[in-house]
Amino acid sequence: MKHVNVALFVTHQGCEHRCSFCNQSTISGSQKRLTASDVKEACEIAIKSGRTSPTDSEIAFFGGSFTAIDEEYMISLLRAAKEYINKGCFKGVRISTRPDCINEDKLKLLGSYSVSAIELGAQSMDDGVLSLNERGHTAEDVRKASCLIREYGFELGLQMMTGLYGSDCEKDIYTARELIALKPATVRIYPTVVLENTVLAKKLRAGEYVPQSVDEAAKLCAKLLIMFEESGVRVIRLGLHSGGNVEDGYLAGPYHPAFSELCYGEIYLHKMLGALKDRDPSKQYVIEVCQTELSKAKGQRKRNEKALKNQGYCCIIKGNRFLEKYEITVKEN
Ligand code: SF4
Repeated sequence: MKHVNVALFVTHQGCEHRCSFCNQSTISGSQKRLTASDVKEACEIAIKSGRTSPTDSEIAFFGGSFTAIDEEYMISLLRAAKEYINKGCFKGVRISTRPDCINEDKLKLLGSYSVSAIELGAQSMDDGVLSLNERGHTAEDVRKASCLIREYGFELGLQMMTGLYGSDCEKDIYTARELIALKPATVRIYPTVVLENTVLAKKLRAGEYVPQSVDEAAKLCAKLLIMFEESGVRVIRLGLHSGGNVEDGYLAGPYHPAFSELCYGEIYLHKMLGALKDRDPSKQYVIEVCQTELSKAKGQRKRNEKALKNQGYCCIIKGNRFLEKYEITVKEN
């Protein structure tokens, strides 16, 4: 059974300005200020569902910049969450914040309220890209905050975006490399999507910004995924969540409800084409992949089967329970 976390959105609070792509109320699907009672209610609902685990489930505060919100308010939310940690219902509290809103005092405070994981919105490690997107912090802020978070014994999570205004594939790959060097436990990758009522929306309309297509973003994110996985970093999110009101505020860019499936599909397509490249296209082949990865290998809506056919290969893709993730074998049929 998959255990559930309690995800709570602290909508666009704590930020003194707005990043070029940000419309937090659209992403979280709510503009209501979160209260301690909301935290308790969400925990109770999750516990009643019978799908929480004291060793796996977390209470997570996302959105906004958690450590930049009014301290009294922040403590009221943390206190409500801690009640449920003390009762042994959840493993710990996870928060997300900006790299320039971390210091030793804040970390001590978070530690005293059972926060165990901190995610930083790094978004890019290129100072030019950060500045163009009005992030208000530098790559060095990300490095300093990451070191401090790890030094204080928290699990470090980092978030990056691809296709930001002023960025390109090379800069995004550089960002991934720089993030890996900071040794995070987890990473989230978000391709930039243009939402209504943002600076990017204005740039899009003025013809100053061209977002990535879904296919371009999936190809790039597939590369990033491999880089992180090979470095032992868990990728816990690829693409925006399909919940909330993203579809309502969506203007342009690589938003797809099954974006991570597209990325995994890209990885398998690349591997399959590599394995077929010296083979006779007039023959039929059986490609075997790890049984639990079969749908990823076939691709979303079987797009990889179609792509192989379009490249002139006649293949059947099958699962094999003796193969590992990403392992494939090719045999003549
Ligand atoms: S730091 Fe996050 S919440 Fe704040 S403006 Fe930027 S993207 Fe929005």
